[in-house]
Amino acid sequence: MNEGLLIVVSAPSGCGKDTVIAKVMEKMKGDAFLSVSMTTRKMREGETDGVNYYFITTEEFKENIRNGEMLEYTCYGENFYGTPIAPVKKLLSEGKTVFLIIEVEGGENVKKVFPDAKKIFIVPPTLEVLEKRLRGRATDSDEAIKARMRIAEIELQRAAEYDYIVENDVLEDAVNDVMSIIRAEQLRINKMQNKLREVIKNA
Ligand code: 5GP
Repeated sequence: MNEGLLIVVSAPSGCGKDTVIAKVMEKMKGDAFLSVSMTTRKMREGETDGVNYYFITTEEFKENIRNGEMLEYTCYGENFYGTPIAPVKKLLSEGKTVFLIIEVEGGENVKKVFPDAKKIFIVPPTLEVLEKRLRGRATDSDEAIKARMRIAEIELQRAAEYDYIVENDVLEDAVNDVMSIIRAEQLRINKMQNKLREVIKNA
């Protein structure tokens, strides 16, 4: 069994990263998994514990850090967010593709533990389109939208640290682009060693 593929996905809020990855997972059926992060932030309406996040206390979060249970973590806004390492390791050892939808700081730290991880940054067609989308959601105040736009500009400046950039203008195109990246990464020589050995053995 070849080691699976670890994919970090980051994007400013409003770029549709969750939708893109949900569609990709649908296409990949049982071969892809989305890591469920832990957070100390409050659960939002419509969210479910253990599905969107594991909602835990700050004490529990710190205890997990002390016990070495986090692959990476960060403090974003006023809250901790982090990726539990055990499920990621298990899925990779089973040859699965694992998605981490996390912010840029976390993405950088993942590479320190898993240098083979690939990072995809999803961008909006323009900042104007992003602002329009955020306003269209009508969930945030004008002040909150302005704050998100400021954060988006800072995050976009770090997109150059990523391995791939995918534009989310037409959803289907963005989904196909991510699928192409996954397929190309699966066919890399370091992921195909077992297959190669099999072919040579039977020659
Ligand atoms: P939200 O509160 O809107 O769900 O998430 C805020 C930010 O935290 C998003 O950019 C999201 O991708 C990021 N995030 C979610 N889970 C994790 C995680 O486990 N680690 C890191 N570093 N960031 C995360």
